[in-house]
Amino acid sequence: MLRAFLYKGDEMKLWKNGFFHTMVNENEIKQQMATHKGKIIGFDEEINHLDFDEIIDLKGHHVYPGFVDAHLHLLGYGQKLSRLNLIQIKDQSLVIETLIHHFNDQPLFAEGYFECGITKKELNQISKDIPILLRHNDYHTITTNDAVLKLINQEHSNGVLTEELAEMAMNIFPKHTEHGLEEILKKSIKSLYHYGITGGHSDDLYYFNGFTQTLKVFDTVLEKMPFRAHLLLHHMVLDDFVHSRRMAFNQTPYLQLGAVKMFYDGTVYSKTALMKVPYRDSISNGMRIHSKSEFVEIILKARKLGLTVAIHVIGDQGLIEVLELLKANPPKTGLYDRLIHTPWMDDQAILMMKDMPITLDIQPQFLSSDLPWALDYFSIKPQYAFPWKTLLNNHIHLAGSSDAPVEIPNPLLGIYSAIKRQSDHNHQTYSTHESLTRFEAIGLYTKGANFSTMDNTRGYLKKGFIADFSIFIDDLLKTNLENLKNTLLYETVINEHIVYKRT
Ligand SMILES: [Zn+2]
Repeated sequence: MLRAFLYKGDEMKLWKNGFFHTMVNENEIKQQMATHKGKIIGFDEEINHLDFDEIIDLKGHHVYPGFVDAHLHLLGYGQKLSRLNLIQIKDQSLVIETLIHHFNDQPLFAEGYFECGITKKELNQISKDIPILLRHNDYHTITTNDAVLKLINQEHSNGVLTEELAEMAMNIFPKHTEHGLEEILKKSIKSLYHYGITGGHSDDLYYFNGFTQTLKVFDTVLEKMPFRAHLLLHHMVLDDFVHSRRMAFNQTPYLQLGAVKMFYDGTVYSKTALMKVPYRDSISNGMRIHSKSEFVEIILKARKLGLTVAIHVIGDQGLIEVLELLKANPPKTGLYDRLIHTPWMDDQAILMMKDMPITLDIQPQFLSSDLPWALDYFSIKPQYAFPWKTLLNNHIHLAGSSDAPVEIPNPLLGIYSAIKRQSDHNHQTYSTHESLTRFEAIGLYTKGANFSTMDNTRGYLKKGFIADFSIFIDDLLKTNLENLKNTLLYETVINEHIVYKRT
């Protein structure tokens, strides 16, 4: 089955009548392109002499290198698509009404809850004996009823739990079968095709059916559905990885294993991101998930295996500490560590990052979702908030991502946020001198997101590069900015195969 996708046919394909944005520079546009055996083999005049088995007319649409999401949770996203989702509901009585409507005397797990004051009291009125859990849209907090608190042996005043307790509560819900997990992954990938996504860097291997079975699910599904999956190795599964005798990076053309995922701190929403100064009306400035020495131990374990690390870090103080620890324990020459999120920082951090082998996996949509409310959590505002232009000016690598299921994994929404820097809540724009150009913003999801794959045939439309394309109706570089919020996708192509076509 795998061979079928890798080598299906030997046809030479001509993709004609399109605008091929190579992304090498803004003005380089080709008119026709040839592909063969999953690779781009040339453009325009250089392919005139070739005989083609198949000709695809792109009808004047605009072709970009396949868009990649540099940080998301493929299974978490698929699970969210399969569960009750409260994301659009911001009114308490409407949330309760929705829960009652979906409650059928079975454990109920709802995703995407936006904090509107619900506690265990309201959930107990629906049921005290059957587990009900609302996962907040920060993914680090939950609200749950007495049935769950009893099962995890916790007395709790309001049922709003964070971090470890939240994890414990979620673990009491039934696990997926192997087949169920396959279905979830398929659902996730299918949805990503609809956004023009051809690959994603995902953190999944710890949270579901154990390393071995979860990885098997990826092996099985990717044989049938082409998608460039790059999986982070959560530090809790490192021993399983060693026992599996798998190597890092390429497993198949569709599957890579990557950096060791670790958490340095929490989130602003739960006041657990490690900040330089205490939160407003609080003596706490957040927390470290591990002690520094435990954290270094995990880094050293990764280094011993020749692996890089991918660290969740949100607070400005957390960032400084992570940089200090990485500086003292660098990866092998030529390899880059990844820092995930990093919205808040100061000049000290930027100065340190300039000379370090790191790349930042950023989520432009977080600016639109988190501002301005996140600022209210701070007693003193950090020096920079989402300073993408400053980072690029300092030659620090940026990769675009959605952290789906947290945000909608539509790269056009990320590109829009990176350019417009506008809050979804009050519609104000923030520090517009940090806005990226159209070309830079698209680059986050093409060149930028492929940086950590260590594969130099991805991220551009170039001869010898993989034949993965995101094809849009309009020119993303020129169309009216507001138009990016519309459905512009025409086709998604992976390994020369059209996996999504607009109908
Ligand atoms: Zn994440």
